[in-house]
Amino acid sequence: MATEIWDILIIGGGPAGLSAAIYAGRARLSALTVEKDYGGRGMIASSERVDNYPGLPGIGGFELADSFRRQAKALGAQFAEAEITAIIPEEGGFRLTQKRGGDLRARTVIYAAGCDHRRLPVPGTERMGVSYCAPCDGAFYAGKAVAVVGGGDKALDDALYMANIAETVYLICRSQPRAARLLTEQAAARENIVLLSETEVVSIEGDMRVTGLRLRDREGERILPVSAVFTAIGMVPHTDLLRGLIPLDGEGYAVAGEDGMTPVPGLFVAGDVRVKPLRQVVTAAADGANAVMAAEHHLRAI
Ligand SMILES: Cc1cc2nc3c(=O)[nH]c(=O)nc-3n(C[C@H](O)[C@H](O)[C@H](O)COP(=O)(O)OP(=O)(O)OC[C@H]3O[C@@H](n4cnc5c(N)ncnc54)[C@H](O)[C@@H]3O)c2cc1C
Repeated sequence: MATEIWDILIIGGGPAGLSAAIYAGRARLSALTVEKDYGGRGMIASSERVDNYPGLPGIGGFELADSFRRQAKALGAQFAEAEITAIIPEEGGFRLTQKRGGDLRARTVIYAAGCDHRRLPVPGTERMGVSYCAPCDGAFYAGKAVAVVGGGDKALDDALYMANIAETVYLICRSQPRAARLLTEQAAARENIVLLSETEVVSIEGDMRVTGLRLRDREGERILPVSAVFTAIGMVPHTDLLRGLIPLDGEGYAVAGEDGMTPVPGLFVAGDVRVKPLRQVVTAAADGANAVMAAEHHLRAI
């Protein structure tokens, strides 16, 4: 049996990939969306509540992404659970290798693999109790002392979320918090949020589980006993597969305009992986739609 050649191979089942799947379905293009995480719906699925997606205030993150996926399915979208490990341009399109073996072939590729949480560059990040998502893991630490590391909106959001659950929340910032004023004021008003500014994490202590953090400030080093550490120090784009294929900026984001076009004909990028001023569901969804339109033009041209 000849291997199927998809019109569009979409890498990533988050808002950008799912929006691309919806637009590809409506354009009657044959498209396969490949997602590496079982049941994955992208980063937003870990968010408890989304208040800024137009028309759906207060919707749960999973519910929002799942409704994208159901809409794509209803339009005939096909999904596969697999991790793509390489994108190889070849005559007439691309060959894509998968972690579990077996190649896929496509005339165009929309790369929408999103970002990952930046890890603290210290020993101990593999211990149980190190989390990147307060709404996902926070409930395990009810009544305990926990730490949140970071000074941006997400760190303050996580600290406020944990203040309702934990006994004490230590908010650890290398300098001073730089979050939106409202969040900073809300955090300052909570008696159980303790701000430790100008403080660095040296290591995460414990055996299997986190038991504390070694901190360094102007007075020297000390151990702060905590049961969990929520890390909110930014994101790293999943662009390793694009390295050497297309230009990336200094932080590793794919350099491409709103249509997602790259210097490799037929390869488009969409969503949080792309250089852009705002990384949100609404902009990721817009990217997915624009990339399909660009891919459709490319398909017509070839
Ligand atoms: C805690 C948190 C709260 C947030 N809250 C909001 C909010 O309230 N409102 C808002 O608009 N935005 C919010 N965001 C941002 C929003 O989640 C992202 O902007 C959006 O999910 C980006 O979509 P994406 O499709 O580009 O990437 P992602 O959602 O990251 O999806 C990428 C997908 O690609 C998959 N993937 C990666 N590599 C491969 C591979 N090699 N093979 C196969 N699959 C792969 C990943 O598993 C992932 O599912 C929040 C983010 C976080 C972390």
